[in-house]
Amino acid sequence: EEKTPLLQLQALQVAYGGIQAVKGISLELHHGELVCLIGANGAGKTTTLNAIAGVLPIVGGSIAYEGKPIANLPAHKRLRQGIALVPEGRGIFTRLTVEENLRMGAYTRRDRAGVEADLERIYTMLPRVKERLHQVAGTLSGGEQQMVAIGRALLSRPRLLLLDEPSMGLAPLVVEKIFEVVQSVSREGVTILLVEQNANLALEFAQRAYVMESGQITLSGSGAELLADPKVRAAYLGEL
Ligand code: ATP
Repeated sequence: EEKTPLLQLQALQVAYGGIQAVKGISLELHHGELVCLIGANGAGKTTTLNAIAGVLPIVGGSIAYEGKPIANLPAHKRLRQGIALVPEGRGIFTRLTVEENLRMGAYTRRDRAGVEADLERIYTMLPRVKERLHQVAGTLSGGEQQMVAIGRALLSRPRLLLLDEPSMGLAPLVVEKIFEVVQSVSREGVTILLVEQNANLALEFAQRAYVMESGQITLSGSGAELLADPKVRAAYLGEL
């Protein structure tokens, strides 16, 4: 096992103007791990993912990827190094077709044959998407759009996949499908950081998790440990 974490945040701070949304968090992801970030609305989860992807600047602390600082790299360079974000709300290009959306994920790649091979792999993993390649993406269901967003991210051949609330607004059965896809991506060796409001689901699913509250990490542990933690149960699983 490799000792250098794939991703390491140290004392990370992110602010919107004078408002500090992330107040000095530290966390790490090891190669191949599936880790969840849970917490209430406004805790700073999305802000954290966006800072890792380079969509938001940081105001303090550090982000290391494969042991090297990346906080000064623009988002497209981080993408080229293997950090892909599936943003909150999915970021689908609604007027483009499904296939066009997927191919956007490969825009930094020059290896055409590799892209075609990856498309085929993604079609196998996402048969629903394959059936709809020529459909305008804005007319897809929420679950189908989420699949396309994940497929598009996979086309950049990520080593680190950042998923922001893939279950948002979806029916339970659809959520289950999405999580199956995430699990199979994880089994292929992609390291995943998943932001999820549904703590119950996230903790059952993740190897490890961090709990975020008001811009800080207040708890961390294995999914099972956190599921059993009375504080977590009271705050996030609706128990008294
Ligand atoms: P949610 O699940 O609701 O997305 P979250 O944990 O992802 O919550 P963030 O979206 O990261 O939380 O928000 C963290 C804090 O930063 C909140 O107080 C939010 O109001 C604030 N914030 C987020 N985006 C902006 C922005 N563009 N401008 C100003 N403040 C913002």
